[in-house]
Amino acid sequence: MTDSFSNLSLAEPLARAVAEMGYESMTPIQAQAIPVVLTGKDVMGAAQTGTGKTAAFSLPLLQRLLKHENTSTSPARHPVRALVLLPTRELADQVAQQIKLYAKYTQMRSAVVFGGMDMKPQTLELKRGVEILVATPGRLLDHIEAKNAVLNQVEYVVLDEADRMLDIGFLPDLQRILSFLPKQRTTLLFSATFSPEIKRLAGSYLQDPVTIEVARPNETASTVEQRFYSAQDDDKRRVVKAVLKERGIKQAFIFVNSKLGCARLARSLEREGLVTTALHGDKSQDERLKALEAFKKGEVDLLVCTDVAARGLDIKDVPAVFNFDVPFNAEDYVHRIGRTGRAGASGLAVTLVSPSDMRLVVDIEKLIKTKLQVENYPLDEDRSRGNVSEVRREERRDDRREDRRPERGFERRREEEAPRDRRSSFRPAQVSRDPFFERPYEAPSIEQAASASWEASPKTTASRTGISANIKPKRKVAALFKSGE
Ligand code: AMP
Repeated sequence: MTDSFSNLSLAEPLARAVAEMGYESMTPIQAQAIPVVLTGKDVMGAAQTGTGKTAAFSLPLLQRLLKHENTSTSPARHPVRALVLLPTRELADQVAQQIKLYAKYTQMRSAVVFGGMDMKPQTLELKRGVEILVATPGRLLDHIEAKNAVLNQVEYVVLDEADRMLDIGFLPDLQRILSFLPKQRTTLLFSATFSPEIKRLAGSYLQDPVTIEVARPNETASTVEQRFYSAQDDDKRRVVKAVLKERGIKQAFIFVNSKLGCARLARSLEREGLVTTALHGDKSQDERLKALEAFKKGEVDLLVCTDVAARGLDIKDVPAVFNFDVPFNAEDYVHRIGRTGRAGASGLAVTLVSPSDMRLVVDIEKLIKTKLQVENYPLDEDRSRGNVSEVRREERRDDRREDRRPERGFERRREEEAPRDRRSSFRPAQVSRDPFFERPYEAPSIEQAASASWEASPKTTASRTGISANIKPKRKVAALFKSGE
């Protein structure tokens, strides 16, 4: 039996939306979760972003809610029936956009609310009435307190990325939100891992859940070909170019461990004639939007980025990911290579390993429970390592020391919405976050991607900026950033 969507007997408007998305068959989480959610049972699902999890819960949920579909303009006829909670605004925005696409041919209304934004437009949307509300916990509580969101008719609640919500410290907020919901409801919990805390949460709020586990935590997708090539720092760029050429790859992500290393590598690849752009924490918002947009449109071939800058992006079908630096944390390896080979597409992940990185490779081996083979990549030119002068070796060591300051700490914390401290009136200052998480990356058309820069002359990288309608700069001055068009 194939895992075709047609086996599900989805209502016509949903089946049409799925067909329009171009999905040929269900992903494993969809094949397992959709039939269960259609029965109205609680689900505890272990699945990461990139597995097709959003459709796995939203399609059956929409199907079950279709009985309430109506065209009335009265807000009372459009109460919140499904609540989807996520830890960060980027994820909330991504999920909300996907739900909008799946619900496109229905009368079901959906909206997203998250912090760091003006409450007013969100309030207006809520007051008009929405059946499906996607939210981050802190902002949802603000709307509940302001009586903008009434949750007494909720039939479905989805706790998505539950492990991350707990990591951030959202448990008190979640408990409070869940206390506003009817007891009689379906609860779906998705988490990358089933830690003891997650099990406790499930024990308190889920009733007799069906457990669905598709990809074990820290398992890498089988559709990704993983290669580890030993390379001295000086040779890494040549290996990247050679692999791209050999495999005929049009676009790739290149991960580095530091902002400085990111900027430096992008510059040197650009000098070598590759159309490259950098995405890291020191780039202005406008630059980052343009970089991403240009990559999506196929105007840029290589996107050099740090882990922090790439987090949360819904990117699929990037043909290849290079780890120019072996990540310091093995978990980052799994996140990085998850950018390719998503939802069934095949991908290539190449990690360049210098001799001092072997310990990090062993960490990855342990995490993904796979024996890794570090191979030599044969470069055409004769490279005799023996004649590298001591001075250049010393320079390289300096570079490495500088480059190895990872982009972490404050930057990483900033990406997540701070949980609210309910015991005091203190509220953490709002910090600006990245608004470029707008719509999934789609591979450029054949024509757009036809001539990658390692095959032809460099192209211009001019691009237009497209910001999600959901994420608008809060302060007026930020509107200036949009003038890049
Ligand atoms: P998610 O894990 O829900 O964030 O989904 C990751 C990506 O996979 C999204 O861009 C979806 O549009 C895509 N996707 C979801 N389901 C399928 C499917 N059955 N076939 C192909 N792509 C899918």
